[in-house]
Amino acid sequence: MTLTPQQFAALTLEEASAGLARGDFTPLDLVQAAQARMDRFEASINAVITRNDEDARQAAETKTERDPSQPLWGLPITVKDNIMTRHLLTTCGSRILDNFIPPYDATVMAKLLAAGAILNGKANMDEFAMGASGEKSAYGATCNPWDTSRVPGGSSSGSAAVVAYGGALAALGTDTGGSIRQPANFCGLIGIKPTYGRVSRYGVGALASSLDQVGALTRTVRDNALLLDIIAGHDHRDSTSAAQADSAPPCLPTVDDGVKGLRIGIDRSTLRYEGMSPVLAGAVKRAVDICRDNGAEIKEVTIPLIDYGVAAYYIINFCEASTNLARYDGVRYGKRRDAGGLRETYCETRGKGFGDEVKRRIMMGSYALSKGYYDAYYLKAARVRGLFAQEFRKLFADVDVILMPVSPQPPRKLSAPTTVLEDYLGDIFTLPANLTALPSLAFPVGVFEGLPAGAQAMAAPFREDLLYRVARVAEQNTRMPDAPWTKESPEDPK
Ligand code: GLN
Repeated sequence: MTLTPQQFAALTLEEASAGLARGDFTPLDLVQAAQARMDRFEASINAVITRNDEDARQAAETKTERDPSQPLWGLPITVKDNIMTRHLLTTCGSRILDNFIPPYDATVMAKLLAAGAILNGKANMDEFAMGASGEKSAYGATCNPWDTSRVPGGSSSGSAAVVAYGGALAALGTDTGGSIRQPANFCGLIGIKPTYGRVSRYGVGALASSLDQVGALTRTVRDNALLLDIIAGHDHRDSTSAAQADSAPPCLPTVDDGVKGLRIGIDRSTLRYEGMSPVLAGAVKRAVDICRDNGAEIKEVTIPLIDYGVAAYYIINFCEASTNLARYDGVRYGKRRDAGGLRETYCETRGKGFGDEVKRRIMMGSYALSKGYYDAYYLKAARVRGLFAQEFRKLFADVDVILMPVSPQPPRKLSAPTTVLEDYLGDIFTLPANLTALPSLAFPVGVFEGLPAGAQAMAAPFREDLLYRVARVAEQNTRMPDAPWTKESPEDPK
């Protein structure tokens, strides 16, 4: 059988792997089909900053003998451009790194390669992962393949869009306050934000180090569990890596165990939250109904402190971002713009290299950390965070999983007028998982008014396995209509 680009776009990781095992196609066929999809869609979607065409082709050509011990053998995968890739441009979506070629692979990248995957590109993203729309990249905005007049979500904008249109079988992203789950949801994919410490952050461009986690964006729940099991694990090179990362239950073996007997909590007030779209609230209700119909016990819960999350999260994010970004001084990394003296060179390099949102966070973070303000802002936010973690963990004495919305509003139109505050408020339901270090998974339950929508599930630390069981039942009870781009033939551009 020959593989058409359109057939490739509909494959899951598992199906592609089975096709390779049967000899239906070769890794080179997969890589070439992915490239054909990029040829067809990149001009309109802009999901990829750097294509890895030549290296991916060469890697595919060397894969002649299937290695059954490598679960991702021969499968093309794209990673977000803040994940270090040896010898391949890694910009973090910023001008300041437009010439930065890392000398090493991030741990997650090394793990993908060791599992046999082929890296076929670096995905577009909001600059330094600051944003939730994909419009804040120095390399241009990414469009949502479901409706190209809309944003794909962010900051893992390209990771979501490239998988959605079929330029890769799966992608890695990062999530500091929702950056995997929200774009996954806006593009009809599964997105996981693992327990803090389950996946190594070594070699991942830091936004807010105490909140950042790497995770997968995939077309199916099983694919997502498969990828998490591969990238997870303790890493001595990341000081915040958890020892438990090695002993936590793997996710793939239990994905199909169902939800019978699981206690699932829902806080109905989140569905009536100010500014909450009734359509998106309906999607969460659908997820609850599916779980009930499949034998889960539904319990009403009260999610604590939700109103304080945005304020606490952004103070912590600004403070950590301002310190993390101090390293981009034009001396050690990336672009340097000489301007006479040391101070002038710093100013010129950082002034031209960073975009507005990055500068805003550096200024706000430096302010909040300065003498006299530290207690009022940073310390207070850190205390709120501690309370959040305490209160959330209490919930998991009574329930196994909590369901809630992913975001209050569907993806907005590209360049629609919006305020910074509106943008920040859109993270209200995703950032609790980061503040509390808990695992969280976004999954679709259908397409409503032309756009995919779904729900978010949270669980106790290292219980991602439960999240996948819930999402898998939702998947089995959801018929996603064909996406609009599957009807277009890439061989026959408009
Ligand atoms: N939108 C949030 C922010 O701008 C989350 C970003 C992220 O998860 N990387 O900080």
